[in-house]
Amino acid sequence: MTEFLREYHVIEAAYLTATALFILALKWMSSPATAKRGVRAGEVGMFLAIAGTLLHQEVVEYKWVAVGLVLGTIIGVPLGLVKMTAVPQRTALSHAFGALCVTLVGTAEFYVLAPEIPPFLMTVLSAEVILGALTFTGSLMAAGKLQEVLPQRPITFRGQNALNFGLLGLTLLLAGLLVADPSRAWLFPLIILIPLAFGVLMIVPIGGADMPTVISLMNSYAGLSAAAMGFVLDSKLLIVAGALDGASGFILSVNMSKAMNRSFTNVLFGAFGQDQTAASADKGAAAPVKTATAEEAAAILSAAGKVVIVPGYGMAVAQAQHKVRELYDALTKQGVDVTFGVHPVAGRMPGHMNVLLAEADVPYDKLIEMDEVNGDMAQTDVALVIGANDVTNPAARDDPSSPIYGMPILNVDKARTVMVVKRGMSPGFAGIDNPLYTLDRSLMLFGDARSFVAEIVRELNGSPGGHG
Ligand code: NAP
Repeated sequence: MTEFLREYHVIEAAYLTATALFILALKWMSSPATAKRGVRAGEVGMFLAIAGTLLHQEVVEYKWVAVGLVLGTIIGVPLGLVKMTAVPQRTALSHAFGALCVTLVGTAEFYVLAPEIPPFLMTVLSAEVILGALTFTGSLMAAGKLQEVLPQRPITFRGQNALNFGLLGLTLLLAGLLVADPSRAWLFPLIILIPLAFGVLMIVPIGGADMPTVISLMNSYAGLSAAAMGFVLDSKLLIVAGALDGASGFILSVNMSKAMNRSFTNVLFGAFGQDQTAASADKGAAAPVKTATAEEAAAILSAAGKVVIVPGYGMAVAQAQHKVRELYDALTKQGVDVTFGVHPVAGRMPGHMNVLLAEADVPYDKLIEMDEVNGDMAQTDVALVIGANDVTNPAARDDPSSPIYGMPILNVDKARTVMVVKRGMSPGFAGIDNPLYTLDRSLMLFGDARSFVAEIVRELNGSPGGHG
């Protein structure tokens, strides 16, 4: 068997194919039209990578590998079944597990090889465990904040950044001493323990509002630590997969920061979101607004020539995407031109709205990007906002004192009529008021997104109780 594998380069072929599939997966996942193919390619790539590794002649015993596979499956299956809205924290947990695994492998490698470790190997091994350890605790903290088992509020104190940078500097110094002389084995636990503490301290001052960006940064660190592990284990597959992960996580974090008009340093050191929720929620409750019923909303929509639907986090919470698709069908049947205005950070993770609307089979070509929709907004009869809030807040455009000032928004307030489906006057993710609701041309449709949209659809189809 081993001879056969070696002679026909089976393992190398599996690794090479897996590498190509990972690259294609990323390429295909960048468009809704090919995203499913991308996910499949990633799955097949991962299967080939695992199979190739298991066939490796250096694996002498399968007992513990089997135990690991069973344990991983027991933990992994329920993790794969969480609700869509919990995917960000689920992703953070996956990064934590990956980073823990990398740190453990690095630790084992150190004690197997020490003290005969050449400088390059010791350098990548140090990078592996440092990044792995800080990503492990950092990701656990991010998951805890998003799941609200830890306080969302940024916790800041004097000298915080100095302490954090000091710890990071100390870790790098200790790693340098180990590279110079790997026989100083007592230093090794320190370059794991200090980054473990650093991971916690790094996340403490960042508000819950910035956790999705932090998670994608953690994704990047986990990828880089895996790439470093690839050098340690001499695995080209791991180097490529880790580098892809590291680069894509970084690009995603940059794009998310851009879509919120925030700089990276502002996300990491800006303590955004502090105490805004309580302050603004009260103000919002007092403001006068006009409301409408589902029947009235249906009549306005029927009479419109052009409607733009703007979905947001509330549509995801209410799982209203299928009803929204029915609404699209009902209006299109009546000859109304309906498109969807999708903001890049609507919802709680990148592509959140695209995934939900694709799940409900809304045609991809009806999902229009923010800049294009904004160009047409003045010619739009009705902007129907469904569970979106911050991404439509005109204060981000007009009020320099707003915490989200500068964040690009969907200019729904430029449409002839704006209708907003939400349950009450609660603020959105950023915890701030939305002056959109008190405009003359705005109508509030108070209710759960799913049931309210279902009611509008019933009215449009003229068959009360028919589609519930
Ligand atoms: P949002 O500002 O969080 O507002 C969501 C609104 O949905 C809330 O005001 C809520 O109001 C309403 N809602 C909740 N449950 C509902 C239900 N069952 N039925 C109807 N309405 C419901 O959402 P967004 O406009 O999508 O903005 C996203 C926010 O997340 C932005 O601030 C963005 O910066 C931030 N963010 C996103 C990402 C990302 O990757 N997508 C990453 C980082 C940060 P009621 O409670 O009154 O119903």
